[in-house]
Amino acid sequence: MSKVNRDDILNILANYNKEEITIATLGSHTSLHILKGAKKEGFKTAVVCEKGREVPYQRFKVADEYIIVDKFSDIVNEEVQEQLKAMNAIVVPHGSFVAYAGLDNIENDFYVPMFGNRDILRWEAERDLERKLILDSGIRMPFKYNKPEDIDRAVMVKFPGARGGKGYFVASSHEEFQEKISNMIEREWITEEDISSAHIEEYVSGTNFCIHYFYSVLNDEVELLGMDSRFESNIDGLVRIPAKDQMEIGLDPSYVITGNHPVVMRESLLPQVFDIGDKLVKTAKELVKPGMNGPFCLQTMCTDNLEIVIFEMSARTDGGSNTFMNGSAYSYLLFDEEMSVGQRIAREIKNAITEDKLEDLIT
Ligand code: ADP
Repeated sequence: MSKVNRDDILNILANYNKEEITIATLGSHTSLHILKGAKKEGFKTAVVCEKGREVPYQRFKVADEYIIVDKFSDIVNEEVQEQLKAMNAIVVPHGSFVAYAGLDNIENDFYVPMFGNRDILRWEAERDLERKLILDSGIRMPFKYNKPEDIDRAVMVKFPGARGGKGYFVASSHEEFQEKISNMIEREWITEEDISSAHIEEYVSGTNFCIHYFYSVLNDEVELLGMDSRFESNIDGLVRIPAKDQMEIGLDPSYVITGNHPVVMRESLLPQVFDIGDKLVKTAKELVKPGMNGPFCLQTMCTDNLEIVIFEMSARTDGGSNTFMNGSAYSYLLFDEEMSVGQRIAREIKNAITEDKLEDLIT
């Protein structure tokens, strides 16, 4: 199978009417602000929507065109691709787009121009690649254990794929690891096959900040657009119970993400925030050309030594950006107006059209 060739995409783009560009995405995840932002910048918008899920786009009036499909994964079908190209569409990827379209399809079969770097999506999905990108940037990550027998302090155990934290657990010895694995299997949150792919890393005790950046290719600058923190069930509920009662109840914590809230950081931490963003962008340019173009997010824990430790990365719009659809404290500082990640993407596309540099943003 041959990879989607950049020249093919540039040929498709060359045939587009640049005055009539449509910004399109899959109707899920962060599509509301992607489409809203595109409209604010004057673009036509299209949503590829699973049958029965069109209501939010209709009620919020963010989509000009609807491509209704039986299931989300149909976005890669030949005829959907043709419809998108006929609209001069640039597709903006997000977490659900990657999950439903599938990495292999995006890399090999999706011949529609995409905003950002399609090749970097694999680097966020595969833990070893993600680790390489972050560690090669000189950024601190949790220590990784190669086997459960080595566990010598509190660890967080994770399983492959983005599951919103389902099945994850904390353990501090090999015995506890075995015991909890059995519990998770019994609960049907993981399967026997998952055990060998368990990822074991140092538990970082701190406060959670998910930092939303945007790397502008046109300005060669890393921007800080916003920050969120996660609501996680049942751990957030569990910590509201006094420790002695927690012992009696015997509930196991889980880390299922149920929502997000906007946050700001201590101002003195911001130099570190910019430093890690800049470093990652620099390394990405070397390891995964053309680099970390457009939005990306670092999910972090900040320790009581005021060190920011990265445990996860999104190399596209991250779900937490929904907390600042109408702007964040940081996007206000930078733009003096309400600026969502979606609108920032659309503005970059608009500026690129004006400067005749659209090819630089597209893969
Ligand atoms: P997913 O990508 O599957 O949603 P994450 O890797 O974001 O899962 O982890 C889910 C949650 O688990 C995080 O939001 C955070 O609260 C917690 N977590 C993850 N890794 C660590 C770690 N190394 N130390 C402490 N908490 C962690």
